[in-house]
Amino acid sequence: MAKRDYYAILGTIKSASPEEIKKAYRKVAIKYHPDKNKGDKAAEAKFKEASEAYHVLSDKGRRTNYDQFGHAAFEGAGGRGGFSNFDFTSAFSDVFGSDIFEDFFEGFEETRGRGRGRSSDFRGEDLRYDLSISLEDAYNGKKQEINFSSSDKCITCSGSGAEPGSKPVSCSTCGGHGQVRSSQGFFTIQQTCPECAGSGEQISSPCGECRGIGKKQTKKKIFTNIPKGVDDGTRIRLSGKGEAGIKGGGNGDLYIFVSIKTHSIFNRSEENIFFEFPISLTDAALGATIEVPTIDGGKAKVKIPAGTQNGKQFRLKGKGMPMIRNKSYGDLYIRSTTEVPVSLTKEQKNLLEQFKKLEDTKTNPIMKDFFEKAKRFWKN
Ligand SMILES: [Zn+2]
Ligand SMILES: [Zn+2]
Repeated sequence: MAKRDYYAILGTIKSASPEEIKKAYRKVAIKYHPDKNKGDKAAEAKFKEASEAYHVLSDKGRRTNYDQFGHAAFEGAGGRGGFSNFDFTSAFSDVFGSDIFEDFFEGFEETRGRGRGRSSDFRGEDLRYDLSISLEDAYNGKKQEINFSSSDKCITCSGSGAEPGSKPVSCSTCGGHGQVRSSQGFFTIQQTCPECAGSGEQISSPCGECRGIGKKQTKKKIFTNIPKGVDDGTRIRLSGKGEAGIKGGGNGDLYIFVSIKTHSIFNRSEENIFFEFPISLTDAALGATIEVPTIDGGKAKVKIPAGTQNGKQFRLKGKGMPMIRNKSYGDLYIRSTTEVPVSLTKEQKNLLEQFKKLEDTKTNPIMKDFFEKAKRFWKN
């Protein structure tokens, strides 16, 4: 039978937000829930179908794959035919978790919060490390020391959790399968063994060093390269540097979340840098060559033409931030602000008075334009 479109199943659209997807699923799940439709095979099928759709559409990665490749995205690999083994109760408990719907369906309480017995359940947790660096460091790149604490495989028991000399025994609850079957209403669910968490093993004499957990918390120091041009919000993934897995599961990853501190002069926007620089009234009027700071710690010369108005922007090509991808540089934009002289000496005042007598404001194009408009306004 051809599979139906996941969005259609939930009665939603492709552009729906995660919140809308959740709402849509909630509606369908309540309608077709087996506890409300005892013995209705069609409702059961609809409930399973909706849970499968939600399982895919509620996960960003799975949803992207589905949007691109349709149902083909989940077929074939490893002989696992799509979602034939799909545990649809987990999608249900993800949504109904701890909210007001809890007592709506009692039967589902038991299945919540347990792993599904796949080897990925034994993979270690990912870790997050927040790193705040200066804009100069982001410009230059740096070797960064990272101090953190995470778990390692216990050396004493090699991660098995069993005291050296002893061996884990087959779990008595599931007979070593890691899965148990239980009835929920009228259908049977295979779920992870609650006793051994899906490993199929029990430890009779736990390792004294790690108390049977198989791993130990240790302090770590590593060095990592922060690339040139790194931006605020960049995540750097250090594969396998997270928490140790258990029972043969791989390590999690360490994610470095980079934030860039506010700079006293420079404002950054992606690869470009901006700042405002004050120039004197005389430089603005007569023109000048001035020196401005650049993010590399140096100076750049900027030629101010005579008659530069307040707020004029200048662009210094290639004086911005490095770009991670193509090794080129952004630009530096500077905006002039004209500063009116203050605390004048007697002599300066006299000179300005003389200037005032000679000044013809009618030749200033901005002032001329404004007063012409004002004249027209007053006439009307
Ligand atoms: Zn078991
Ligand atoms: Zn141990």
